[in-house]
Amino acid sequence: MLPSAITPLNVRGRTFFIKRDDLIDPFLSGNKYRKLHTLLQSDSHTCSRVISYGGNQSNAMLSIAALCHRKGWQFDYLTPHVPLHVKQQAHGNLYEALKLGMQMHEFETGDFEPAVQRLFLDINPHECIIPQGGADPLARNGVALLAREIEAWQKENAITELSVVTPSGTGTTAYYLAQTLSCDVITTPLVGSESYLRSEMAALGAYPQNLHIIETRKRFHFGKPYREYIALHRELEVAGVTFDLLYAPKMWIALLEQVPEGKTILYVHSGGVAGNATMMARYARKGWV
Ligand SMILES: *Cc1c(COP(=O)(O)O)cnc(C)c1O
Repeated sequence: MLPSAITPLNVRGRTFFIKRDDLIDPFLSGNKYRKLHTLLQSDSHTCSRVISYGGNQSNAMLSIAALCHRKGWQFDYLTPHVPLHVKQQAHGNLYEALKLGMQMHEFETGDFEPAVQRLFLDINPHECIIPQGGADPLARNGVALLAREIEAWQKENAITELSVVTPSGTGTTAYYLAQTLSCDVITTPLVGSESYLRSEMAALGAYPQNLHIIETRKRFHFGKPYREYIALHRELEVAGVTFDLLYAPKMWIALLEQVPEGKTILYVHSGGVAGNATMMARYARKGWV
């Protein structure tokens, strides 16, 4: 299973290399596999119950559900109120996570944040809390393993000038990649601005000098469908690789707009493809697909 494959992808006459972390597992894939690697490798007695929280279509939620299913751990997930039509969907991340045995706990607006805060107050030793999006120093070792795979490939192919590209939510993956690699790491913020991303990263440690945050000319809001996104998603799919619809499109727009030809580019596929079913349904409702 590891190291994950690296395959070339031709886009607009340029050759990019793709680190296929999306192929590691259908549900526990991409950077969530890396971030949860330490827990996946841990003894089953490490905890009996995992608790996490966040949105009802989160990729992290599905990956943690897959992890707990494998380890035989109970998984409780706190989320704000879920609309009925979302609960009734027979596809997507929530549907798959519930099938894997996740226990969902819904909170009305206003009750969710206090419930999350209470979690951290009375935790017992056999419970593991995974913060929203899997943003946790626990993620470091798994991402460092990814970095070592990249370095081995770089050496094997005698690549002197390399840039590693991956999109950011919490920034945990890009941060630890930059911290453990000596080459450039390029990312773009999906949730909020560059300064918000920098403040999230500051919680993990000093800012790595080889980490570059780039932006698209157009502003995009997280979780919204865009014609530019679906067009690029299609283009990349025709070229040979299916990416997720939440994070990858903006990263690719930024990459094609802002990064000139020159260095070898390795794009780390961050997974999330299981969530495309629900996003595609939204694109279909708009009449864009
Ligand atoms: C979670 C996720 C990200 C963001 O990862 P961070 O480590 O939180 O920055 C990027 N891409 C996909 C597909 C994801 O699911």
